[in-house]
Amino acid sequence: MHLRRCFSTLPQTFTDFVVPSYGRYTHIELSHGNGNRVWDTAGKSYLDFGGGIAVNSLGHAHPAILEAIQHQAGRIMHCSNLYLTVQQGELAERLVHLFGGAGKIFFCNSGAEANEGLFKLAKRYGLATGRHEIITAENSFHGRTLAAIAATGQDKIKAGFGPIVPGFAHVPFNDLNAVSNAINKDTAAVLIEGIQGEGGVTPATTEYLMGLRQLCDNNDILLMMDGVQCGHFRSGRFQSYQQILGVDSSFKPDAVSMAKSIGAGFPMGAFWADSAYADLLSAGSHGTTYGGNPLACAVAQAVLDVVEAEGLEENVRNNGQYLYDGLLDLQKEHKDVVSDVRGLGFMLGIVLKSNASDTPAADLVEALHQRGMLTVPAGTNVCRLLPALNTNKADIDECLAILKDAVQQI
Ligand SMILES: *Cc1c(COP(=O)(O)O)cnc(C)c1O
Repeated sequence: MHLRRCFSTLPQTFTDFVVPSYGRYTHIELSHGNGNRVWDTAGKSYLDFGGGIAVNSLGHAHPAILEAIQHQAGRIMHCSNLYLTVQQGELAERLVHLFGGAGKIFFCNSGAEANEGLFKLAKRYGLATGRHEIITAENSFHGRTLAAIAATGQDKIKAGFGPIVPGFAHVPFNDLNAVSNAINKDTAAVLIEGIQGEGGVTPATTEYLMGLRQLCDNNDILLMMDGVQCGHFRSGRFQSYQQILGVDSSFKPDAVSMAKSIGAGFPMGAFWADSAYADLLSAGSHGTTYGGNPLACAVAQAVLDVVEAEGLEENVRNNGQYLYDGLLDLQKEHKDVVSDVRGLGFMLGIVLKSNASDTPAADLVEALHQRGMLTVPAGTNVCRLLPALNTNKADIDECLAILKDAVQQI
């Protein structure tokens, strides 16, 4: 093993031995991190405002996560879902309380898998009335499994994987009439992201969410939300609809998928279903071997502990606004490069003009790499900022200074 590395560079090792399904930045070999900072193997440090694509909710090497993993790994990591564990039961109860106290949780291991659970929930819901179709939005992203790419409203994600799983229809996002027109005798559910992530950081409007609720109620259709990226406090509230509509709103979806920030880097997914639908997936109808294992649940509990103890929901709202304001200033100073700033909390997108290049987002992300900052592109013209939920003003000031320098350059 060590011998090999003597003859080959790490990019070459990836070329030779790793399936090339990802477009990678092969000049960055990451070694370790602390808080919002990561270091590469050459010793260069980066301010991490990509957060592992909205996953590292407490930054890197958070002591509470380390402690939870060490403690739980020394007791019981995994035991299958044939038995009960305190960790899974207590985490489910805590999440249900965050959803207002009603409903139940199913645990799995990723965002795509959480959405697969929602698809099966919708099918079970429609079974009695012979309905099976799910309406999703154009530019949505729901994951990479066969059903999740069928649900995803982007042709490039489906390309070459036909025949595509049937039963999904796509309509323009934030367009209530389009949903209304798409509803037919087969429709069982609507699935949307509260803030489209991969599609370019586009929040749902108040009217859209309220109108969808009404439309789904009137047509006996489930309203399901993909909270994989925009959920778990990233918007400044537990779920994005609470931030978009205000916590006092009576709005409630029927089911929500979760992953990414929930495990702070430990792979975990889940979905919540309201009480009327929580028992649709009866014993034997759905499952996953690792889902909700005690180690994953202990980590997710530690994340919630820190979010509560350190007031991170408020931190995301306050410092998210601070970052947003800084980005608006950047836009004002560089109208020729930045056309818009979108998003909520710590899920923000810098929309770039295609002046000199067809790939302005990729250009900016690379210019930021050179200056020691990690961010994530969304499509060709949006640069996403997804920092840890505990990000402070000093890190935001540094981010804004690096951005300013990079924007001046491109
Ligand atoms: C990342 C993402 C997924 C897929 O999650 P995986 O853990 O990669 O399977 C699904 N939906 C949304 C909105 C996402 O951002």
